Amino acid sequence: MRFSLKLLFLGTAGGRRVTFRQLRASGGFLVELGPWRVHVDPGPGALIRLVQCGIDPGSVDAILLTHRHLDHSGDVNTLIEARTMGGWTRGGVLFAPRDALEGKDPVVFRYHRRNLDRVEELSPEWETTWNGFSFRALWPHVHNGVETYGLAIMGEGVKVGYVSDGRGEGGLGDLYRGMDLLIINTTFRYPRDMDHLSVEDALPLLQKARPQLALITHFSMEMTKGVAEEAAIYLRERTGVRTLPVRDFMELTLRREAGELQIGIRDCPLVSPVGLGDGE
Ligand SMILES: [Zn+2]
Repeated sequence: MRFSLKLLFLGTAGGRRVTFRQLRASGGFLVELGPWRVHVDPGPGALIRLVQCGIDPGSVDAILLTHRHLDHSGDVNTLIEARTMGGWTRGGVLFAPRDALEGKDPVVFRYHRRNLDRVEELSPEWETTWNGFSFRALWPHVHNGVETYGLAIMGEGVKVGYVSDGRGEGGLGDLYRGMDLLIINTTFRYPRDMDHLSVEDALPLLQKARPQLALITHFSMEMTKGVAEEAAIYLRERTGVRTLPVRDFMELTLRREAGELQIGIRDCPLVSPVGLGDGE
């Protein structure tokens, strides 16, 4: 049976003010292939955002962290507990950089890891497969001394690249060639001397990578109030690459038909504002 690859954005927040005032949601994104769900970078509120979309958090079988910063990992323990229920429903997998798991300040509790089927450390050579998905780490990303990886996520012949946080350095475009869809964390409109990408940094990146569709997300204050929408038009005009700003709860369905990529986009309805019913 063939599935479509689905992406559901549970947040688009980047900077601290946007995250902690929840001006945008900050739950990362979900990638689905049939019944299999991978939660990428479950930041603060990921649990709540899943529930709002009517998704049982216990149905998320895999979690993938690109790095240990709180806006990418805030709900990782919550989601592992939701999946494993303290060991009652053992299973699930976690893929995370070494410094998220070990060292002075690991962000994933050790007692949770025992209840998972599989825990894998990301490394520059990391590649793995899981239930029809294949994942590959893209490196290096220079990001405040924290071990940070970009990702290539593949399923049913569709390739999705995720440019996680990092400094806008020249080589990033080459890392992300050959993707159908490219998600780029453009935190700022203009470059700053910080380890985050701006829209101006996304320009040469897109010129090299040339995906069929680019999505910009992970917005700080300066990307709100219509700036992200204008920036997407700016990127498209200069690169010729179709570019869209991500909205909270935006859902994409990707499918390859006779070699052509079909892309469906809709806003996922919020079916459970408060909590999931118990089915009674
Ligand atoms: Zn970060």
